[in-house]
Amino acid sequence: MHEMGIIISLANTLDDTAKEQNIIDIGKVVLQVGEVSGILTDLFVDCWNYFKVRHPVLKNSELVLEEIPAVTYCSSCRQTYETVKYGKECPYCHSPETWLIQGNECVIKEIEAETE
Ligand SMILES: [Zn+2]
Repeated sequence: MHEMGIIISLANTLDDTAKEQNIIDIGKVVLQVGEVSGILTDLFVDCWNYFKVRHPVLKNSELVLEEIPAVTYCSSCRQTYETVKYGKECPYCHSPETWLIQGNECVIKEIEAETE
């Protein structure tokens, strides 16, 4: 499952950060998730709640997701547009020469933590 892989790497990243910074308890984790990253938000939070108990530092954590809208750039007319609404073809010039500039990411924005 796609979500589980992301959760495992997220948990490992947080675990490492906690060790480096002498964090004993992580409260809130704000994760920015791209609109087309393929992360189903409800399922993702459920997976997190199930998985976090394996990491003592994360057992009280709450995962908050912030969605980043997907934006595509057209290299023919140099405009940007909403990916989800128009897909791969530019709505202005109908060029297929487009690429996603944001909306596929999964980034830790903020961690609330208690240190020793
Ligand atoms: Zn265009």
